[in-house]
Amino acid sequence: MKPGARLDPPAWMDDGPSHRLFAALEAAGITARFVGGCVRNALLGRAIDDIDLAVDKAPETVLAALGAAGVKAIPTGVKHGTVTALAEGRTFELTTLRRDVETDGRRAVVAFTDDWLEDASRRDFTFNALYADRDGTLYDPFDGRADLAAGRVRFIGDADRRIAEDRLRVLRFFRFHAWYGRPPLDAAGFEACRRNAGTLGALSGERVARELLRLLEAPAPADALEAMVEAGTLDRWLPEYAGAARLRTLIARESAPDRLRRLAAILPVGTDATAIGKRLRLSTQDSLRLGVMLAREPVLDLSGGLRAWRAGIYRLGNKLYVDRLLLAVDTPGDWRGALALAGSWTPPELPVNGGDLLRMGLAPGPRIGALISAVEDWWVAGDFEADRAACLAELQRRARAA
Ligand code: ATP
Ligand code: MG
Repeated sequence: MKPGARLDPPAWMDDGPSHRLFAALEAAGITARFVGGCVRNALLGRAIDDIDLAVDKAPETVLAALGAAGVKAIPTGVKHGTVTALAEGRTFELTTLRRDVETDGRRAVVAFTDDWLEDASRRDFTFNALYADRDGTLYDPFDGRADLAAGRVRFIGDADRRIAEDRLRVLRFFRFHAWYGRPPLDAAGFEACRRNAGTLGALSGERVARELLRLLEAPAPADALEAMVEAGTLDRWLPEYAGAARLRTLIARESAPDRLRRLAAILPVGTDATAIGKRLRLSTQDSLRLGVMLAREPVLDLSGGLRAWRAGIYRLGNKLYVDRLLLAVDTPGDWRGALALAGSWTPPELPVNGGDLLRMGLAPGPRIGALISAVEDWWVAGDFEADRAACLAELQRRARAA
């Protein structure tokens, strides 16, 4: 693999932790190069989320080299070639060069190699097979830099073959398009994804969800999402898909992306969130939140002004109220006013509870809950003005009347 142009190295490539790591590896005769997302994003001047390096020696050799230099090393996935290094407080993922020995569309059996081009060839897209030395010297065996500049997500090699090796690449194609692509989509890649869409059922829910949610998190994911749907890739995993119109409005409203909220935006109100949570292996917490975001009740009243907004915030809690509000794109009313209130107003706590009724002499039982809930409705309808004394009096009145 021949060196090419030079990248002006960002700080993380060429500072203390990086020097420490490279010194430890070089002392043992190991060549390491930054690879994948961190190089791609460095070229774009975008933030990176993790630092991956490819190394030309076996993981045991890497572990020994780090150990000898006093750099903390964790054998994260030695079988797959991955060692995590912790140098001066920074984490680096070091993976031995690999080639595929066997692929079944889901999991690959890999072998270690010292051939950089073999390692590059098993990566998915041209701009994900970029390597860089510590000084920024680039290795770009498939012209990924030009594709990146043009916003072209291009498979390395024959797209159908690459998808047959790993079907997840269909979803990655659209995910990377959402983040780095510009229209039009690479036609050969898109057609291969369409041809293979029917095979995605064999993937696991976690992996599908991870790709879909990462796609949704992109600054402007709607076009990539629509292309993904057009290719038929969501037929099996999200048949409830209801179009991207609500997503576009949500994005115009929200101040920061939220992937789960964006997922809710492409589903019809009233969708069974539990079923989706099971299918996509969402956490219980995420499933519950999705459930609130997709629920028909309570109906949001955005045109009723402060009183109605306060009642809504009290019922849902500030965070979920904001979710529902941002998603309620067809609900008339001053959503901006409601949003501002949800950011500044903390709902009070109901000043009475079941204990008060027991002290009044009522027997424990379901009636306690029913009375509290009735007084709560009364208190909310009165815009939280009733204080504890007034609420107690109301409780007493209702307890006697019933
Ligand atoms: P991100 O910034 O989203 O993490 P990334 O490029 O780092 O982007 P990862 O999913 O972290 O993406 O993968 C790291 C690298 O590993 C990729 O850049 C690519 O070279 C390779 N890779 C990951 N998954 C696959 C795959 N399914 N098929 C081929 N290569 C892959
Ligand atoms: Mg990554």
